[in-house]
Amino acid sequence: MPEVYNWQLGRAMTYRFPEAHPEWQFAFVFNINRCLACQTCTMACKATWTFSEGQEHMWWNNVETKPYGGYPRGWDSRLLATLEAANPGGQTWDVSRTGPRTPYGRYRGQTIFEAARTLGGTDEAIGYLPSEDEWAAPNVWEDTATGAKGRPGVYGRGTELPVHTPWFFYLQRLCNHCTYPACVAACPRNAIYKRKEDGIVLIDQSRCRGYRKCVQQCPYKKPMYRATTRVSEKCVGCYPRIEGSDPLTEGLPTETRCMAVCPGKIRMQGLVKIAEDGSWEEDPEHPIYYLVKVAKVALPLYPQFGTEPNGYYIPPRWVPREYLVQMFGPGVDEAIETYTAPPRELLAVLALFRATRTILFKFRVEKGPKVRDAVIDGRRWAMYDDTVIGYDRQGREVVRLPVVEPFYERPRKYLNSI
Ligand code: SF4
Ligand code: SF4
Repeated sequence: MPEVYNWQLGRAMTYRFPEAHPEWQFAFVFNINRCLACQTCTMACKATWTFSEGQEHMWWNNVETKPYGGYPRGWDSRLLATLEAANPGGQTWDVSRTGPRTPYGRYRGQTIFEAARTLGGTDEAIGYLPSEDEWAAPNVWEDTATGAKGRPGVYGRGTELPVHTPWFFYLQRLCNHCTYPACVAACPRNAIYKRKEDGIVLIDQSRCRGYRKCVQQCPYKKPMYRATTRVSEKCVGCYPRIEGSDPLTEGLPTETRCMAVCPGKIRMQGLVKIAEDGSWEEDPEHPIYYLVKVAKVALPLYPQFGTEPNGYYIPPRWVPREYLVQMFGPGVDEAIETYTAPPRELLAVLALFRATRTILFKFRVEKGPKVRDAVIDGRRWAMYDDTVIGYDRQGREVVRLPVVEPFYERPRKYLNSI
């Protein structure tokens, strides 16, 4: 069994195939703190790719309410329980050895691939096939907080930051176009592949025979079976937009449908340059590289699963840390501390979220005047009205924004007019 290096785990792990990396990798950062669960992203995806017969249950993009919600229902808690059964008490991290190749320390537990070996059998990764009932309703437990009637937890004690007593948050999900995809490893027909040019993971519909091994073994449950065609389908990363081959894109890499419509401005998408050894080429002026590797405010979803997902999340500030560490790994405290009192460069990059649908490959910050002094969590903090500039793949400026949003006062004579 080949060994591959998983930088999110800070160690090598076993995987069905030897290391082979794309030149660029589709990646995204979601700021959970900003999501309003409007489901505009969900519907944009649905209206583009999954509106046909046999696709009724397909929500390639979904937004679920944590901790109780999930699509399919219980997808993550069920897998975590299986991981725990394979290696009781073992899913821990050694955070004493953090460094450039091990930013979150070293994962001591088992991945879904390793746990499959422990439990025996022929599957490449642990998993399960959800029932029809679990696929039936995408948003059960929407807006349900811990401690709400009929659910466990403590309720009614009042609440304040840093951690709320009753809490919930929205988790935005799509295929992570993983570096070591479990769907690729699981497929006995080798019908699933990862593209060299952008790392997007696709199912070859002509090779697929509908065995549903990908549905069973993707830990994020993002491939879905279509009974009318008897093959599986999954998020295609809106590849014509990423390629710039869609006529709307005018030849430039453009954000996917779910990213480009987000009114909460929680989404930033990018293509990250990958070195031969699979690491991200150092590029601190690339917005995604900056958020994940420099500011370290954005963290992978369930890194312990071992697929090296390429979706990253700025964790919600008000949720108990223990829950967040289980979901995003040991980088949570540092990420929330940085996000709560953001350095001026980070504040500028946050302004770029949803500022343009053209994918940004570089940003620059022009310094402006100080506009505010404050003390946040006992730390002195200052805000500056800097200007952030975003550049497309060709290095052309496509967006320029001030950090402080301009304020316009409507003249009194127009107060009651539109
Ligand atoms: S469109 Fe944006 S704000 Fe609305 S649910 Fe999706 S991610 Fe959240
Ligand atoms: S999220 Fe699932 S379907 Fe997407 S690449 Fe990873 S393993 Fe495959």
